[in-house]
Amino acid sequence: MNQTYTSDVGRLLHNAHFMMSCADSKSYPADEGQEVAFVGRSNAGKSSAINIITQKKKLAFSSKTPGRTQLINFFELDSSRRLVDLPGYGFANAPIATQRAWGENLEDYFSLRKSLVGLVWLMDIRHPFQKYDRVMLDWLADKKVPVQLLLSKADKLTRNRANQAVFSIRQHLREVDHLDIQAQSFSSFDRQGLPTLFSKLAFWFGLANSAEK
Ligand code: GDP
Repeated sequence: MNQTYTSDVGRLLHNAHFMMSCADSKSYPADEGQEVAFVGRSNAGKSSAINIITQKKKLAFSSKTPGRTQLINFFELDSSRRLVDLPGYGFANAPIATQRAWGENLEDYFSLRKSLVGLVWLMDIRHPFQKYDRVMLDWLADKKVPVQLLLSKADKLTRNRANQAVFSIRQHLREVDHLDIQAQSFSSFDRQGLPTLFSKLAFWFGLANSAEK
């Protein structure tokens, strides 16, 4: 990828600062410009990924403070671009009412947000397509949003095992109709996969004409 785009998107992401936490769609910021949302099973590494790409050690952990975990957290990058941290799913023993509220919250977000240009979805490369990930996949198949699937914690596998996992996950995804989804290995610990993700973010945020495959 062109070096300029990488540094442009890196600079943009480094501007990130906490904007607001929203319990429902009435309090979302103005639906203008472009926004990229992050979603994943709780513990998949979503906060670590947001912190790594923005180079801010604690940014997304603000979403983990008590009372904020079920909220939608918005981070401003510049006057027209945002990152959005969606609440994690798959909490062990979460009450049905909490799961339902999570689903409704997300449904509202996806159906309303015109500025949503892409979704970064995190899934542990060692444990792909667990129960709630499969629900998520079915649900995403109906949505129009392009998805970058980060197969997280790839540092826990050898390069060979990680490549095999990516290959079989891609095979599985080919069976899902109408879904614009690209899977890649990723690690916030050793930063593998960061250039591919940056390339996609540069494309989604209008800083590049195409993204790396
Ligand atoms: P979240 O619940 O999805 O926001 O997940 P966190 O980012 O809080 O990470 C959950 C746990 O996984 C923490 O103990 C992290 O240190 C660990 N973790 C996150 N990313 C990575 C990674 O890339 N590699 C490894 N080995 N562990 C990770």
